[in-house]
Amino acid sequence: MRSVYLDHNATTPLRSEVREHLLAELDELRGNPSSVHAAGRRARAVVDRARERAAAALGVAEEECVFTSGGTEANNMVLFGSLRPHGPPAGLVTSAIEHPSILEPAALLESAGHTVRRIAPDGEGRVDMQAVLEAATDPACRLVSIMAANNEVGSCARLGELSEGLRSAADPTRVRLHTDATQALGRLPIDLAGWGVDLATFSAHKVGGPLGVGLLVRRRGVPLAPVLAGGGQEGGLRAGTENAPALSAAALAVELAVTEQASYRERVGKLAASLWENLSRALPGARLIGPPIDASERLPNTLAVLLPGAGQQLLVARLDLEGIAVSAGSACASGSIEPSHVLTAMGLEEEDARATLRLSLGRETSPQEARRAVEILRRTAATLPLAEGRREK
Ligand code: PMP
Repeated sequence: MRSVYLDHNATTPLRSEVREHLLAELDELRGNPSSVHAAGRRARAVVDRARERAAAALGVAEEECVFTSGGTEANNMVLFGSLRPHGPPAGLVTSAIEHPSILEPAALLESAGHTVRRIAPDGEGRVDMQAVLEAATDPACRLVSIMAANNEVGSCARLGELSEGLRSAADPTRVRLHTDATQALGRLPIDLAGWGVDLATFSAHKVGGPLGVGLLVRRRGVPLAPVLAGGGQEGGLRAGTENAPALSAAALAVELAVTEQASYRERVGKLAASLWENLSRALPGARLIGPPIDASERLPNTLAVLLPGAGQQLLVARLDLEGIAVSAGSACASGSIEPSHVLTAMGLEEEDARATLRLSLGRETSPQEARRAVEILRRTAATLPLAEGRREK
C-alpha cells in the first residue's frame, strides 16, 4: 500500500497537468531565450507567457515578477539586495519564526555590522504587529520581513495592519515591507495590494509545480541590488539563462493554486480539522501547537502535534516504516539534532519541541488516508513510552 504523504509543507507532488505541460515544453524547446534566432525567440515567448500568467494570478504587473531558483533564493535576494553586506549599516526587523532562508542571511548581515531585530511570537506562533512596528520606528530600519504563514505551525501574520502602521509611522520609501508567502500560496487568499507589501516571495514546488522555481514580486520602484550578476536576465535582477520549460510549468501551477485556493481551503481545512479531532480522541495526551484549529488566521492544512514524551526523530522513522510520511518540525531542520527554532521561540520546552510532529495535508489527501494516518499514529504511539495525559501548561 502506498504510504500516506502528510508532508506537503516540505514539498508537494507535481500536479499531473503541470507535469504534462512541463514534458511538452521540454520536448519542444531548444533555444536560449536570449538568442535571436527562431528557437531562442520561441523560448523567450514561453518565458514571457509564464511571467504574464504568474503576474495575472498574483494581481501584479509583469515587470514586477522576477523568476528565481526557489523561495530560498528570493528571500536571500531581498535581504542581501536591500541591505548590502558591505553597505552602510542599516536595520532589519523580522520575526524569530522565519524560515532559515531569512534568518541565516539576517545573521550574516548582522555579523557584517547591520542591526537585526527578531520579534518573538506568542505561544500560538503569532507575531504581534505592534511590536514589529515599534522596532521599525528605529531610523536605521530599512527592511521589515515577516512571513505571511509559518511553515511549522501554520500561524499567519496580519500584514495589512502592519503595512498600514508602517505607512503612518515611517517614511514608506525608507522602510520596505517584505513577506515570505511561500506557504500561503494556494492555501490562503493572496492579496498583495491589501497586504501592502513591497516585496513577496513564492515557490512553485509548494503548489504542485516543479522544484527549483521561485518567484519574487518586487513592486515598481522598490530598490533592490542584484545578488547574481551576469547576463542581465530578469530585468538585471537575477542573471542566468532562464529555465523556460520549468518557468512555464511553475506559472501554470501558480495559476491553478490561486484559482483553486477557496475550494482547497474549504476541503483541506475540514479534513485537517477532522484528522485532529480523531487524533486527539485516539491520543488524549496529544496537544495541537499553534493557532487553535478553528482560528481564521491559520494555514488550513497544517497540524503541529505534540506527543508528550515522544522522541521525534525516532517517531518519524517508525511512522515512515508504518506507512506515513510526516516531518519533525520543518523538513529543512529535521536532519539536524537542534530542536525547532519556531517551537522554542513559542516557548516550548526543548523536550516538548523535540516531541512535536508536523502533519501537513495536501490537495490529493483523501479522507481514507487521513483516517489511516490516525490509526497508524495511534498504533505507533502505543508502542512508545508517551507521557500520557499530560495537559497544556
Ligand atoms: N520559506 C518558507 C516559509 C518555506 O517553507 C520554504 C520551503 N521549506 C522556503 C522559504 C524555501 O523555499 P524553496 O524550497 O523553494 O527554496
